[in-house]
Amino acid sequence: MAISTRQIKFALFVWVGALSSARAASPWMDPNLSPDARAALVLKQMTLDEKITLLHGTGMQGLGPVSPLSVGSNGGPGYVVGIPRLGIPALQMADAAYGVRGSGENGRYSTALPANIASAASWDIEAAYAYGALIGRELRAQGYNMTLGGGVNLAREPRNGRTFEYLGEDPLLAGRLVGQVMSGMIAQHVLSDIKHFAVNDQESGRMSVNAVLDERSLRETDLLAFEIGIREGHPSAVMCSYNRLNGDYACENKHLLNDILKGDWGFPGFVVSDWGGLHSTAKASAAGMDHEEPTDYFFGALLKKAVDEGKIPLSEVDDHARRILRSMFAAGVIDDPPQKSVIDVEADLALAQSLAEQSIVLLKNEKSLLPLEASSLKSIAVIGAHADVGMISGGGSAQVDPPGGNAIMPPGKGATTWQAKIWFPSSPLKAIQAQAPHAKVEFNSGSNREEAAALAKKSDIALVFAWQWECEGRDLETLSLPDKQDALIAAVAAANPRTIVVLETGGPVTMPWVEKVNAVVEVWYAGSRGAQATGRVLFGEVNPSGKLPITFPRSEADLPHAKIAQPTAESNWNKPWELRALGEPSYSTTYSEGLKVGYKWYDAEGKTPLFAFGDGLSYTSFSYSDLSIDAGSPTRVHFKIANAGSRAGAEIAQVYAGLPKSVREPPKRLVGFSKVRLEAGETRSVSLEIDPRMLSIYDAEKQRWTLVTGDYVLQVGGSSQRLTLSASFKPR
Ligand code: BGC
Repeated sequence: MAISTRQIKFALFVWVGALSSARAASPWMDPNLSPDARAALVLKQMTLDEKITLLHGTGMQGLGPVSPLSVGSNGGPGYVVGIPRLGIPALQMADAAYGVRGSGENGRYSTALPANIASAASWDIEAAYAYGALIGRELRAQGYNMTLGGGVNLAREPRNGRTFEYLGEDPLLAGRLVGQVMSGMIAQHVLSDIKHFAVNDQESGRMSVNAVLDERSLRETDLLAFEIGIREGHPSAVMCSYNRLNGDYACENKHLLNDILKGDWGFPGFVVSDWGGLHSTAKASAAGMDHEEPTDYFFGALLKKAVDEGKIPLSEVDDHARRILRSMFAAGVIDDPPQKSVIDVEADLALAQSLAEQSIVLLKNEKSLLPLEASSLKSIAVIGAHADVGMISGGGSAQVDPPGGNAIMPPGKGATTWQAKIWFPSSPLKAIQAQAPHAKVEFNSGSNREEAAALAKKSDIALVFAWQWECEGRDLETLSLPDKQDALIAAVAAANPRTIVVLETGGPVTMPWVEKVNAVVEVWYAGSRGAQATGRVLFGEVNPSGKLPITFPRSEADLPHAKIAQPTAESNWNKPWELRALGEPSYSTTYSEGLKVGYKWYDAEGKTPLFAFGDGLSYTSFSYSDLSIDAGSPTRVHFKIANAGSRAGAEIAQVYAGLPKSVREPPKRLVGFSKVRLEAGETRSVSLEIDPRMLSIYDAEKQRWTLVTGDYVLQVGGSSQRLTLSASFKPR
């Protein structure tokens, strides 16, 4: 039966009428109002019990009691009951650092992107946005409306077991990139979260350690990454960390939450506790903590009792609830709730591959051994790291379950649990064979050094894959490659003068063999399509453009701390919840290096790193010229980059500033960067605006940022250690 235009008009009239009467009854459902106005309107309708419902989770298997209310959970670590009578949906939270976690257990599919540290190595703003957007889309498709990704703790201690989950050692780079990830996520109508706030820079004793750091260093280093990320990416939530900071637990630290985050920075979203990171009710609430996870121990009945007894003002509860509601409206999860759906797997895998390609860093390339030319190779030895079947990934709550399971286990065996080493089924051997179809490509596991060396000896070229595994909840004991891989590499290099090392690591490693090998390529934890990306870089289909977001020291003796401070007593993760109120035995890590994080430490102490922050080679070469500075407000820097080689490529231009001597800063800091794509022979002009904050210091006495007067030096180039242009100026 054909429907007439009149009928359509009438149906539309009825629908619009129904909508406007629903809106009249529920004015907060009007999308034309601001998120703040909508949150204020709906809050007025809520009972105290309903408000408190929003302030806590409902339990998580394996961590504290699980409430029957969690029945609607999608299987993630956090579930917050909604308020259907007011149209407020449940919050379905998932860990999603480099892809959506838990999909395997739930029978779903997730794409694993290259690890977060890898995305930082791309120094690419657009790629970071695409990274967040992909995860946002896959979260929605699985029925989640909030991510718990967004790790941005600075790599103050490179042995931190979560280095792979973070974005390196520089606050500007890490802050700008996490901001883009947050924006990409929110654009998919998913609540975003930035974590772990703050100075959760080691995993050892993370529930008890007291991080000690002076105010100026705090503001200029670890907090600056958060500040930039929050300003640029407007995340919905900030996750307070497990550790204490200068005495108080981060989740009940008034200075951190109320004074800095919500006060100085004007953060309008909510603070969510790390899982089991809360130890009090009144103190935490007054400090600015809004939402407890995963249970309701402190922010459920105890909170209600405290309000009833007048120990916590209702205004505090209102503020917590208002912030959560505001974030839900702002992210669009109320107007556009997620629908479970099937994603475009091929498109997401293609994006995972392109992001991996942009993150690979060529560290050494003696005699231009790379890129390999398939037609000139008859035999290739591929050695080590299970490179016949897969590539390693980072573990803990970030772990993405690969479809098909762990590549090194028989199908169906070896669950992808928290603390298991998972190799994603992306085979370098196959990718290399595909690149060199006429060569004999043979694999040796490397478990027997003599056999591996024998294969290397009879091959035209030897590719050694080496791994280092990082996982939440534990730190690396050392920066050496595990499992006697240093000896394996040395043996292979001795057998074949054309040896290439491919590193699958979550951060820096030491390389006692570096002088003996021709090439070193850092591919990080490369994700679902890591092998294809690696193959394309090795054979020159992709010209590498990644640069290190973190320093690789020559030796561990060069690090600021000889060892990571260990807890005096083990904390009991599974102890009864009520005992958490007593807190954990405290011990301190004093970050006496203060401002000198990463390259700033090496610069200030006159230590030459093995590979410096910002290092990374290309198959072409770039030259810089014509530096000029407009010292205005803001300061602008102009220069030219030329591609002096015969291949197209991308260069990451870096701008560093040295502040006047009087302010006792490390010699230089990154103040701007830009990724520039250039055809062979092309020259481009680059202009960058420098954020005045990046030229300022935090005056702890006056409690504000100050632009110091005096002579500044600006240096420009392709690595923190190769800055070919330099000029001095006085900012105004
Ligand atoms: C981690 C968080 C994570 C949470 C939920 C905690 O142990 O520190 O990063 O989001 O668990 O899985």
